Amino acid sequence: MSTVDFTEAIMLYQYSNTVKMGRSGPTIVARLWDLLKQNEIGYRKPKRSTVRGSFLANRASFDLRVNPTYIDGLPDGQRLAAVSLLMVHEGVHASLGIQDDIMDELQARKQSILYYKELAGPGVFNEFNDPPTPARRGGGIVKIPPGSFPVLREQSEYLNREQLIDYLFDIKSYRNKFLKPKWIIDHLSLWGGINNRQPETKGRYIKRLAATYDAYYAGAIVDIMLSVRTRADWDTMMSKAGSLNTIQLALESLTGNRARGQQIYELERKWGVALIEQIPMR
Ligand SMILES: [Zn+2]
Repeated sequence: MSTVDFTEAIMLYQYSNTVKMGRSGPTIVARLWDLLKQNEIGYRKPKRSTVRGSFLANRASFDLRVNPTYIDGLPDGQRLAAVSLLMVHEGVHASLGIQDDIMDELQARKQSILYYKELAGPGVFNEFNDPPTPARRGGGIVKIPPGSFPVLREQSEYLNREQLIDYLFDIKSYRNKFLKPKWIIDHLSLWGGINNRQPETKGRYIKRLAATYDAYYAGAIVDIMLSVRTRADWDTMMSKAGSLNTIQLALESLTGNRARGQQIYELERKWGVALIEQIPMR
């Protein structure tokens, strides 16, 4: 049975350094207190058992839900941190409102990863339980042991490399919902630019862009291909890029562009692949 008190979980975050250091922290905290006051935070089993927490405004019963099975499955000493981490993630969603963009998810993950780092590092002082009640666990400094929360640790490594977006687009439901040609163009220069995208992400971008058969998007396909350095990366990228024929048809829209034609020709020679059926303007 889940016994973590939401007040304690929110307070733990409220008094963390993560809140003090970021701009969004106080907004998230205020939103969480608001939701708790309105009785919109609660334990409830999700339809899909892998869901740990969720937020959806104005739904029947709790808007912010925590999966009790997930919390109960954790060692006693990790439950408070787990609920608090979920408060942060879902609290970001709640404070952003519904923008229906991958950027929401990125913000929610980023904020909870920063908080995870504090919990896994110096820890956070538990104001709620001060002075500590002997009968209760979690008094003093709340810390999570090394090796716990492996999913957050992995995401933390992606964040360090500015590749959290690659982590997210490795998840099919996010790709289906958010990966759109215009979004790709608008965000191509972020997070270290195209050179810092993983080959899988490059391939997934190409797949979406090629399906438009539009010269505007086809130019970006060439830029993405030009960013590849090794044969292994090229092969990985192309394994995610969809049908070669679709790519060829999309790149055909560039045949009137001399500079692009030359780049495509060089790519073909470098990687030994036919990107256009008739090579233009050699
Ligand atoms: Zn989320």
